[in-house]
Amino acid sequence: MQNPDQGLSIAQEIEHFIFQHLETMPMIGEKFGVLLSRLLGGNRVIDLLLHMPSNYIQRNQIAQIKDAQHDQMVTLKVKVEQHFPNKRKGSPYQIVVSDDSGFLNLSYFHLKEQILQNLYPIGATKIISGKIENYQHKKQMIHPDYCVSIDQRNQIPAIESIYPLSQGITQKYIQRLIKNALAKLPVDYLGHWDKSLSRIHLCQTKEDLNHIQEARRLLAYDELYSNQLTLQASRQKLKTHKTEIIQPKGNFYEQFFPTLPFKLTPDQVTSLQDIERDFVSGIPMRRLLQGDVGSGKTIIAFLSMLPIIQAGFQTAIMAPTEILARQHFGHFEQWANQLGLKAAILTGQEKGKKRQKLLEALEAGEINILIGTHAIFEDPVIFKNLGYAIIDEQHRYGVEQRARLLQKGISPHLLLMTATPIPRTLQMAFYGDLDISSIKTKPEGRKHIDTKAIPLERMSDIIDALHRRLEKKEQIYWICPLINESEALDLAAAEERFKDLHKIFGDKVGIIHGQKDSQSKEVVLQQFQEGSISILVSTTVVEVGINVPRATTIIIEHAERFGLSQLHQLRGRVGRSDLQSYCLLLYAERLSPIARRRLEIMRETNDGFEISEQDLKLRGSGDVLGRAQSGHKEFKLARFPEDYDLLARANQDVKNFFLASAHSTEDKNRLRILLEIFQLSGSSIRMQSG
Ligand code: ADP
Ligand code: MG
Repeated sequence: MQNPDQGLSIAQEIEHFIFQHLETMPMIGEKFGVLLSRLLGGNRVIDLLLHMPSNYIQRNQIAQIKDAQHDQMVTLKVKVEQHFPNKRKGSPYQIVVSDDSGFLNLSYFHLKEQILQNLYPIGATKIISGKIENYQHKKQMIHPDYCVSIDQRNQIPAIESIYPLSQGITQKYIQRLIKNALAKLPVDYLGHWDKSLSRIHLCQTKEDLNHIQEARRLLAYDELYSNQLTLQASRQKLKTHKTEIIQPKGNFYEQFFPTLPFKLTPDQVTSLQDIERDFVSGIPMRRLLQGDVGSGKTIIAFLSMLPIIQAGFQTAIMAPTEILARQHFGHFEQWANQLGLKAAILTGQEKGKKRQKLLEALEAGEINILIGTHAIFEDPVIFKNLGYAIIDEQHRYGVEQRARLLQKGISPHLLLMTATPIPRTLQMAFYGDLDISSIKTKPEGRKHIDTKAIPLERMSDIIDALHRRLEKKEQIYWICPLINESEALDLAAAEERFKDLHKIFGDKVGIIHGQKDSQSKEVVLQQFQEGSISILVSTTVVEVGINVPRATTIIIEHAERFGLSQLHQLRGRVGRSDLQSYCLLLYAERLSPIARRRLEIMRETNDGFEISEQDLKLRGSGDVLGRAQSGHKEFKLARFPEDYDLLARANQDVKNFFLASAHSTEDKNRLRILLEIFQLSGSSIRMQSG
């Protein structure tokens, strides 16, 4: 808290300013405050300053009307020909202008005729700048950004930063806001921050354009440094926590192993050994187990619980969906029963008396293994002595949730499992606080999933192929397209497809989607599992973890709309037995180059680790974890692969930082501000005073 007697020093005042709510700035009221914070993903002045231009346009070159393309930003020198005032309310006021090469319509809505008459006297020559659009086969410009006379030409900025926008926010508005905020940053703010941000936002000359990357990388280094500081600090802090040493093996293993219907793969064994080593280290485990879809993580989860249970502790496993939790429960309950242990499930569906009894049993320590959705880590759930928690498909949760969980209780061992491997080079940035085990070897006998990309028009061939699969008593997933982010539309598409297939295949077809209640979802899944349904039409709800070994074919409609990791996850629903499996990627015409490349990669490889590397190359790191749809970006400034070198440097520099015996107050202050800027928790960082 600030001591009121001292007042604020300049540094504190500035710091205060960048962390202030946007609405404290001029030109931002409550309404725009809300719109902006949605766009920026934050409501602080610094979030505005970190809103990076998506593009820079050069307005200083005069183009010809005939060359101006749809969607292009152009500056034109034109002669005013004619005015067409709007005839009806709501229709635009139009002005026709020309140059040697052709004619162009300028359209204005809601501007007074008198203003436009003054701005565009007939016969005058004007410089206009704005975006070209084709409308009913004619070129037009709606509300030019600039209209000036020739001698005022320098009022048009040579280069303009263009920002991503959202509804209600205009380009000029956000440009002005950013300019205003920048003007308040003092010289040498946080070292280079005022300079770097100005270079990015206020680019003036072509020369400036060459320095943008440099400026971004300076900021990106600070971001990565903050990231490494947090992750390494969390590791260091962990080391100060002691837990009981839990010896591996014991009767449970000996009893259980002979009942396993298969031999563990070498990587499964290694992973299990990694985990057991953590248990005897006396320090709480924080480990990520990454293994491709179908690599056999579930059994490792169960086996690794045994020494903990043997030592008298409870264990828990959390799945991202109800369906998956129930599927896990099916296995875990059976395995637990074999050993005389008690497993229970807790999701949103366990209600009333049943829930109450379950919670009591849990608190009394009568339950050895609790399986569930996120409900199991919610408030009223009290374990007698939770020794080990596992989070399955952890990529579904995101880093913040992991952090929240880690903060909850420091002592239980924690294993995170994911089927979305992350490229090696980025592990440091995303999982620098964790140890990592990887299952790369697949269980023996798995066949390569034959993957084909097929144009949608060849639907009748596809139907023929399905008949052949059904004759062999095999099963089929039919994944419907992502329409956009609207679940309702996705659903409509799925129902449409269901009707079509139902006409052909009758009652063999079932449908499942996110809007069904979980009970009816379960019924359908059950039918699919038992084989009374052979074709399961679905939105992407089957994406993670569902295991139906007789399913050999997956059809993904409009595959070009899915990301690589999602396609790979979906494909992982088949190839779960020794039967030959197939993945058909149906695409619509006119694939973008990136979409085409994605489908190619899917055909070329079945290996999730390889796919994650390729994915990174294809789109950069903005969304390595496949969360673009949720608007979640891990880094605001850093980009990969370009910034690998910065990441490595930040990693080393932070190591040195922790080794140093003393830190200046100034250093500490700067770091504190950086952590606050990137909203990373600095609470666990212990800095030596100097
Ligand atoms: P995931 O890693 O995607 O969670 P699962 O744990 O669901 O994969 O395993 C997929 C299937 O492979 C299951 O049917 C499981 O019983 C089987 N499985 C696991 N390990 C082996 C193994 N070593 N050999 C043969 N089959 C295995
Ligand atoms: Mg799994």
